[in-house]
Amino acid sequence: MTAQTAQPKSSPFEEVNRRLDEASEVAGVPQEAMALLKNPYREIRVEIPLVIDDHLQLFTGFRIQHNAARGPYKGGIRYHPHVDLEEVRSLASLMTWKTALVEIPFGGAKGGVACDPTIMNDKELYDLTVTFFTRISMVLGPTRDVPAPDMGTNAKIMGWAMAAYGRLNGHTPAIVTGKPLELGGSVGREDATGKGVVIITEQWAEANGLSLKGARVVIQGFGNVGSFAAKHFVGKQAKVIAVGDVKGSIKNDKGLDIPELFKHVQATGSVIGFKESDPLNSDQLLFQECDYLVPAALGGVITGQNAGGVKAQVVVEAANHPVTPEGEDILTGNNIVVIPDIIANAGGVTVSYFEWAQNIQQFAWKEARIHEELYAILRKSFANVMHFAKEHDCSLRLASFSIALDRVYRASKARGYLRL
Ligand code: NAD
Repeated sequence: MTAQTAQPKSSPFEEVNRRLDEASEVAGVPQEAMALLKNPYREIRVEIPLVIDDHLQLFTGFRIQHNAARGPYKGGIRYHPHVDLEEVRSLASLMTWKTALVEIPFGGAKGGVACDPTIMNDKELYDLTVTFFTRISMVLGPTRDVPAPDMGTNAKIMGWAMAAYGRLNGHTPAIVTGKPLELGGSVGREDATGKGVVIITEQWAEANGLSLKGARVVIQGFGNVGSFAAKHFVGKQAKVIAVGDVKGSIKNDKGLDIPELFKHVQATGSVIGFKESDPLNSDQLLFQECDYLVPAALGGVITGQNAGGVKAQVVVEAANHPVTPEGEDILTGNNIVVIPDIIANAGGVTVSYFEWAQNIQQFAWKEARIHEELYAILRKSFANVMHFAKEHDCSLRLASFSIALDRVYRASKARGYLRL
């Protein structure tokens, strides 16, 4: 190994805080309030013992409650080998700003377990989930902290989580969102994040005199968010010309047949080997020439090292924190617009809010109402962001963080948390 003179790498949490510091100047939030607003309220770490193949294995899980000034903590649970404290902190913080930006009555939280769900069977995932939720259950509750799915988790796991909490506290559907429909899940939740990505992208296009019809889209990640984003892009007559997942990438310049790709992924577990496509080196996926590049997998994938190779007009952050600040500086320098995560992927938490509201009211909404309310919230929120960015001559990111920070600051003040 050669000696490196690499710059000290900042953690994702430090990167989010850097964005908040910039926003504090624009939003006029005093520095003395920023320590309270940046740092999590409570951090829980638990050990999860599991016997796999006759061997005891210990997994580590986290639940980080970042801020509840505007309502109960809200945020997903991630199962992924890279889950660590700093990453979960950053994701928890992003939830605080996301819920504030779309003005739903929640704060921000995130959780995760460092594990690889792709190599675990259902029995192991069930045991992991029940133990994890039992061990964090004392800080959860429909008016305290309401988890949801994220990378590596899904409706099935949320159903098990609800049951684990219910064994201790009685039947409580509003304890998690993203549940199966049979357990009080909401119609429209499964595809809400991907659908929201397309609603926001279309609004950006319209505001800039463009249409999604015929637009070329590249998507990294074909899980919950990426696959439904692809479906809704195609619904707007855009062409999804390349997609990738953890196993590999594919392309078709004429546009991939997304309904057929859904079937292929269902049958094989990956996009690779799809019949009407050519294989693509995954290292090249982010560098494809396109109108919209949609990272919908991991964080930190567009960085100071590789952003120079991006050949998109717009990067739509469907994943959380996929573009580092250094990466964003390079994209901006190359006139590439970045639509930030806290608005681009806010459709999921918005429909989670509808699910929570339905559970509390014990009254199911019709799908048309979900769509109508989702559309109205995202449209209004993004119109505010675009207006703010224009007025302050700043990026969509800075506008989003400034609006959100101001709202959380004012709520904290109203609670008497800050100097009166
Ligand atoms: P998922 O587990 O359903 O899918 C993840 C996808 O990413 C899979 O296709 C996987 O193969 C792919 N992937 C993983 N590692 C990869 C790699 N190294 N290179 C390329 N692809 C890779 O997860 P999801 O729920 O779709 O979440 C994706 C992102 O969206 C995450 O950043 C998550 O935090 C964010 N997000 C999710 C939701 C939600 O409602 N699920 C809401 C907001 C934001």
